[in-house]
Amino acid sequence: MPDHPLLAELARLTALNAPVGFEEPVLAYAREELSKACETVWQDVRGNLYAIQSGSDADAPNIMVTAHADEIGFMVTHVRPDGFLRFTLLGFPTEQVLPGQRVTILADGREIPGVIGVRPGHILKGDEARRVPAAEERYIDIGAVSHAEATEWGIEPGVPGVFHGPLTLTAHHDRIFGKAIDNRAGLLAVLEVARRLNDEQLPATRSYVVTVEEEIGLRGAFVAAGEIQPDVILAIDTVPAGGTPDVGPEQLPWQIGKGPLLKVRETQGLSTHGPLRSLLRKVADHAEIPYQLIVDTAGITDASTAQQATGKAAAMVIGLARRYSHSAIEMLDLGDLDGAITLVEETVKRLTSREHLSRL
Ligand SMILES: [Zn+2]
Repeated sequence: MPDHPLLAELARLTALNAPVGFEEPVLAYAREELSKACETVWQDVRGNLYAIQSGSDADAPNIMVTAHADEIGFMVTHVRPDGFLRFTLLGFPTEQVLPGQRVTILADGREIPGVIGVRPGHILKGDEARRVPAAEERYIDIGAVSHAEATEWGIEPGVPGVFHGPLTLTAHHDRIFGKAIDNRAGLLAVLEVARRLNDEQLPATRSYVVTVEEEIGLRGAFVAAGEIQPDVILAIDTVPAGGTPDVGPEQLPWQIGKGPLLKVRETQGLSTHGPLRSLLRKVADHAEIPYQLIVDTAGITDASTAQQATGKAAAMVIGLARRYSHSAIEMLDLGDLDGAITLVEETVKRLTSREHLSRL
């Protein structure tokens, strides 16, 4: 059986290293791809990337289709005299899984491999064997024998890092795992929608936006929505999923492989727009795309701050369920990604008038 058509590009995208605040490799890739499908592409001083396909009707809604570029990671805070690195977290990697992870430190254009140190199991006594090391105990070992050697390799305070590991296809044709699934999967959806709508004559203007600094508080999206002034926000992002032996339906009822997620609400944030949500459901039914309607009590996305930035946009989140959220090996079902792409594409085609957004 041939590989899933989305697999190769997702592998390329997840191999890019772009922690919060250092999103350049992903922005460069997205800029090149969006330039092929859109008439105007630009970047703001903050880093957010914009690409426009103009609609034929100035009264039709301006639709912002968006995903974030950044991934969770690490940042060196201090190089010890013995060459080990102290570090802080960029975004919120799951602290429980940090010891023993492979990482890549991004030092001045060089990729330096390292591992997060772990005390030998042989000497762990009592409770220590079960506890997560405190922030000040954690360190990265890059093999340097001294501060001078680490410095020679370009390591200094402020140098970032990310989890390391190739995208891996399981024996299941559609199921993959690896780093940065959050949110290269969403970004690939944005790129694909732009490509598919490139030759379409549509009333609505499509604004494709790749945001920065999502993982540290949904920051880039707030700026981006101010720039675009959208009428509609369609944010595509990954969402922590249940369906594993350790996460029951009472906690996270949605699962991978059962279709894209449509959020009714997200925690501490967005109440999605009723008419927009209904339209997405209708489109999904018509195109026979299975979907999962969810009340997200765990996660929040760029849609929340983007909507707050203008106050006037109808917002919706198209979620991609993924297991092992914010670890080094998030798992995704490519069937869900396929469904999300078609769902967004077809919804954008149907949004021909602001009347579609009326709540009365
Ligand atoms: Zn995300």
